[in-house]
Amino acid sequence: MRFDIITIFPGFFAGFFEHGIVRRAQADGLVHVGVHDLRAFAHDRHRTVDDRPFGGGEGMVLKPEPLAAALESLGVQRKESRKPEESSEHEQTRTRTILLSAQGRPWMQSTAREFARMDRVILICGRYEGVDERINELYCDGEVSIGDYVLSGGELAAAVVMDTVMRLVPGVLGNEASGEFESFGAEDAAITVDETGIPRSQHGSGGLLDYPHYTRPAEFQGLTTPEVLLNGDHREIRRWRREQQLRKTLANRPDLLDHAALSEEDKRLLAALGWPHRGGRQGGWPKGDRRQG
Ligand code: SAM
Repeated sequence: MRFDIITIFPGFFAGFFEHGIVRRAQADGLVHVGVHDLRAFAHDRHRTVDDRPFGGGEGMVLKPEPLAAALESLGVQRKESRKPEESSEHEQTRTRTILLSAQGRPWMQSTAREFARMDRVILICGRYEGVDERINELYCDGEVSIGDYVLSGGELAAAVVMDTVMRLVPGVLGNEASGEFESFGAEDAAITVDETGIPRSQHGSGGLLDYPHYTRPAEFQGLTTPEVLLNGDHREIRRWRREQQLRKTLANRPDLLDHAALSEEDKRLLAALGWPHRGGRQGGWPKGDRRQG
């Protein structure tokens, strides 16, 4: 798989690519990344990439000409001139040109899974007030937002997109199934027993949040690891972890329960915990956690 990033701050990504899974994915040749300096495609004396917005208002806007030149240098054609089989809707093309934008569609684990099947993803990082809209209209297959907040630039968003996709590219994670067991992961039905016939101690999240994790020492600052995790009864461990997933999802992300794969037992437990909520707090920080000042 290949990522191409267009940015005015190519140095931003140096540290990001040097660590952990993102570094290993590239070292193992499973993912290739090209970082392209937008200023290299600005041909005036000052390498100008931005200009004042038509209609007035605050800030500057990234000009369309350097961005179009950068995209075309990467072989991205205008959408109207793509052959039908090269259209973004066509599964076989498996290339996406994406504008990072606070106005984009929400980036989610399901989107990361979809992108992990692509051959190539081109990411355009905006800056200032954003990117001239004609770049989106002419070249982009979609706009992606990583959350309901405004970043100073698209580079952090590009890093989030790459991190979440790279770890799902086949071969990148040591254990192929790891992605299924995490928050927002696969349904439990997709998880099999191991060769000894003992069910895995992990649990498919089926769209829930993950359960809490513990490691040595068993006691830390007066807090002990839950006994059930120490007794080796895999059935009990599975049941406990599922309950913890349900409790945490209900507390922190009750919205996920509307689309999660829930068994009858799950629903009984949730009902005992007061789900669905009628009124009451939905999200937000508990009062005690609020920072003062
Ligand atoms: N004027 C824009 C707005 O109100 O939506 C904000 C522009 S922001 C200061 C500059 C750039 O940061 C954007 O062009 C985009 O590339 C990136 N950006 C900001 N927030 C983002 C988000 N939530 N997700 C993805 N990219 C974002």
